[in-house]
This record gives sequence, structure tokens and C-alpha cells, in this order.
Amino acid sequence: MKTTYPESSHPNANREATPDVSRSSWSVFWRLLKLMRAYRSWMALGVLLSTLAAIAGIGLMGLSGWFLASMGLAGVAGVSMNYFVPAAIIRGAAIVRTAGRYAEKLINHDVTLRAMSTLRVELFARLLPLAPARTGFLGHAELFSRLRADVDRLEHAYLAVLLPILVAAIALPLVTVVLACFVWQVAALGVAMVLLVAVILPYALARRSAASSVAVVELEARLRTLTSDALLGAAELRLYGGEAIQAERIAALTEEHGRVRAQLDRLQAAGGALVGLAAQATTIATVLLGARALQQHHLAPAELSMIVLLALAQFDVLLTLPEAISQLGATLVSASRVFALIDAAPAVDDPAQGLPRPTRTDIRFHDVAMSYAPTDESGLDTAKRWALCGVDLDVPAGRRVAIVGPSGAGKSSLIGALLRFYPIQRGRIELGGQPLEAYAGDRVRDMIAVVEQRTHIFNGSLLDNLLVGRPDATAEQIHAAIRTAQLGAFVAGLPEGLNTWLGEAGVLLSGGEARRVSIARALLADRPILVLDEPTEGLDAATAHALLSALDSLMQGRTVILITHRLAGLAELVDERYTLRSGRVVREPIGEFSRA
Ligand code: ADP
Repeated sequence: MKTTYPESSHPNANREATPDVSRSSWSVFWRLLKLMRAYRSWMALGVLLSTLAAIAGIGLMGLSGWFLASMGLAGVAGVSMNYFVPAAIIRGAAIVRTAGRYAEKLINHDVTLRAMSTLRVELFARLLPLAPARTGFLGHAELFSRLRADVDRLEHAYLAVLLPILVAAIALPLVTVVLACFVWQVAALGVAMVLLVAVILPYALARRSAASSVAVVELEARLRTLTSDALLGAAELRLYGGEAIQAERIAALTEEHGRVRAQLDRLQAAGGALVGLAAQATTIATVLLGARALQQHHLAPAELSMIVLLALAQFDVLLTLPEAISQLGATLVSASRVFALIDAAPAVDDPAQGLPRPTRTDIRFHDVAMSYAPTDESGLDTAKRWALCGVDLDVPAGRRVAIVGPSGAGKSSLIGALLRFYPIQRGRIELGGQPLEAYAGDRVRDMIAVVEQRTHIFNGSLLDNLLVGRPDATAEQIHAAIRTAQLGAFVAGLPEGLNTWLGEAGVLLSGGEARRVSIARALLADRPILVLDEPTEGLDAATAHALLSALDSLMQGRTVILITHRLAGLAELVDERYTLRSGRVVREPIGEFSRA
């Protein structure tokens, strides 16, 4: 049987990845520029320098044309002319053009890179409060895509679109005025051609490339997700022989991406060719119009070569525009994807004026119901499934309570609601006698340390991973935590002790070691409430038993909620036991396992 692997399991994933930009392209573009407003002085300087370089370049062409023709004509006529002044001006223009280009590139790229890095940091800061409720369905690869590729593409909006448009808007009227002083028909022709190349052609290109631009961004994001999924699941794919299917899917997407990219490239090339054609046609027409003006003695011979070269040079500033415009669609799609993240509201709102950190640590759930189904008016919540339905639970301060239930019973959901990661739809959770929603989420989480079944080990040293619990921990505190978590022998055996690199997702740690790192982290964090989520799950009996005394030390003096699907081995650690089944809690006798 042919195995298929879900490329994007959540129905919202693709809908999110393909925002509709057509309606609001301009508002997206302006919002993008507003994001960069902190850099407006530097941007203004960048535009000024670019314009100066462009004018110097155009002037250089015109003046050189006039100068060479004048020198030639003077030579033929055998008369002398003052060549010092024009030669000095030409040299000056050449220097301004070269230096201006250098400074302009430096400033414009610097300012966009700075703006993009600020945006990336801001975006990351906005992302954190969205986790885990609002980020879960997008997946890591998709989030990474938005933070990296989409933000990268945004620099295009200023560098390739706004900048050349502004430069053209300042420099071209000057050229038109100069041309009009000699032959007005040439100036009028120039204006018509500029309109064609800078307005009509880009508009037509933008219309034709709109669909491909959206598709290209979406395909790139899907490719990234698919590839990262294949890499993460490489072992499973090899095990079940799924490499060929995954490779086929990647190849098919790559091919489709290539096809859409080629469509965009063809449009871009056609745009470039049309600008070239317009430039050549303008040159020829200028020669003809200039020759007639020469015949009618409205133009001096040397001036003819000057206006021909001026007419040609004005296209220099327009050359990049069709390419920029054909990429504008993709830039705006990326911007919409970034803005969608910026605008996403956290799943749980913080109160405007949260209560201060509570002094008591008793926890009470009263008739709590919670569902992961969206509660907006989209109609998606009709078949709401309740993860918790009517939970009543009392955890007095300093008590150790076990919540036992089969997989899927709602144990993690209970903790998610307590940590204010997910909103509840009914009932009340109280912390220290006050409703949980009266505290800011961070204040609640400040009170609670969590030891999870699957601890995330960051790609850093053991020390980095411990300091996650408390960045300012002293050496004594770290060593005490290591001792209590029974990591001493493990650390002593590491080649570089605490500075040993643990690898991506802690690949160099065994399950039991990772669990101990998590216990040491929780010890360092030193919070009055402790949540243990299946702390011995997946460990062999000997390792699990060895962990018990570390867990017991961690529990000392704290209010504890231990969630597990099987209490065996952990029973001696707790005071009370509840059973959670299908989102409901039932109190059960402790029996012979009582800690006391
Ligand atoms: P347990 O921790 O006891 O295994 P959970 O609290 O994880 O149970 O799950 C309870 C129910 O909620 C299950 O039906 C599960 O499928 C669902 N669920 C859990 N997490 C999510 C989530 N992030 N989004 C949607 N449904 C979820």
C-alpha cells in the first residue's frame, strides 16, 4: 500500500499561508513603509544620494555627448575652444556619480538591513505570547519561514520599489525641463515614454504576475515545511521506506515552484526588454526630431548629440522598475504573512491592571470547561469537543496532589489552563484565593515550575540549559541544583563539565538525564508551585526509581500537582490522588500508598 504523509495537517495552515493581498495591497505597502519610519532620516539621505548619483550620471552622458561633438566640430573647423571648464564639469560629474553610488548603496542597504533586523526581533517578541495556543497549528518550519524568508523579502519594498520611484520622480522632471529648453517635442516624447515604462508597463506586469507572486511565496513556504518535516522524520522514513514518496513530493513541489518562478522570470525579462526597446525607440525618434530641429536652425549640431544621449540616459533610472514591480506582489504576500503574525491576538488576554504576585499558593478549579475549538464566529465550533468538562479540584497550599488518568483524559489541558496558555470557556480557576484571570499570564507562570515528560533541551551547553531556569544563578546555586537533581556523577563524566554542548534538542542526553536537567532547572527557578507531567514516563524501572529522591527533594515545601497515567512508583510522593476521565475529576482514596 502506498503510504502518504500529511504535508499540512491543519485545515487552517494553508488558509493562513495564503493571505488575500489583492484587496489591500496599498495598505500593506504603506504599513510596510510605516514600519521603517524610525529610519526615515537615513532613508531621506539615501534617496538624496541616489538622486544625486542618478542626475550626475544622466548629466555626464549629456555633457560628454555635447563635449565630444563640440571638440570634433571645432577640430574640423580648425577653431580652438575652451575645454578646461566642460572637462572639469565632466570629471566632477563622474566623481559625484561614483562616490554617490557608493554612499547611496552603503546607506540604503544599511538602513534596510537594520530595519529588517529590528522587525525580526519585534516579530519574535510578538510570537512568544502567542505560544503555544496560537502558534501550534502553523508549525516550526512555517514560523521559521515567516521570520526568515518573508522578513528578508520585505527589504525589496524600499530598495527596489520605493527608492527607484522616488529617484525617477525627482530626476526625470529635471531632464524633461532641460530637453524642453532645446526641442520640446523630444521632452514630450520622453514624458510619454516614461509614463509607458514607469506606469503602464508596471501596472500591466503587476496584474499579470499577481497570481504567480502569491503562488511562489506559498510554494516556497510549503517546500520549507515539507523539507524540514522530512529531515525531522528521516529515521521514520527510512524505517518504513517512505523516502521515495517524500522525495517525490519534494520533487513535485520543486518542479511546480520552478514553473511558477519561470513565469515570473519571463514577465520580468519581457518587462526589461520592453524598457530597452522603449529606450532605443526614444533614441531613434530623438535623432529624427533633433535632425529636423537642426535643419530648422533651432538646434546647434553639438546639442543634437547631447539631447540624444540625455534622452537615452533617462531610461537608466527606470531600468530596474519592471523587475521590482513584478516582484512587488511576492513582497506584499510576504508582508501580509508577517503582519498576520504581528496582528494575531494572544489566546488569553491579560487584565489591564493585573493583581500582584499572590502570597498564597492554593489552587482551586471550580466547574471548569475547556475546548480547543475556536470560539470565533467562523462556524468552526459547531462540533465542539471538550478537553475538560466540569472539573472541580482543590489543591491546598503545600499539598502534593496526583491527577491520574488515561491518555487523552485532559491532564495536559488542565495544566495548560492553569498556566494561562489556553482560555477556559466555563467555570473558574483560582490561585491564592483570586480568579486566575485577575493576574497577568506571566505573573501566574512566575509562580509555577514545570517538569515535563519531554523537556526541551536547547542547542547549547549544559550550563546554558540550566540557566533557562534562572539566568542570574550563582555558581553555588547551580552546583546545589546539580547535586539535588542527582546530576553530579553525570556532570563529572562530561568532557567539558558544565560547558559540554548538548546538541540540537539534547540529542546527546538519555531520557533520564534530560529529566534530571529539567529537575535541576526547576530547582534553580525555585518557584512555590510545581507541576510534574509524567516525570518518570518512558524511563526504565531502575532509572525511574533513581529519580524519585531527586523529585522528592524538588517537591519539598512546594504545592505540587503531579499528572500521570500510572501512579505506580510515584504514589509514595503524594498526599492525595484524583482520577481524571473524559475531562472530569473524581477524588479517590489514597489507600496504602499514602506518603504519611
Ligand atoms: P492527556 O494529557 O490526559 O493525555 P490532553 O489534555 O493532552 O490529554 O488531551 C485532552 C483532549 O484534548 C484530547 O482529546 C486531545 O486530542 C485534545 N487536545 C489536546 N491538545 C490539543 C490542542 N493543542 N489542540 C486541539 N486539541 C487538543
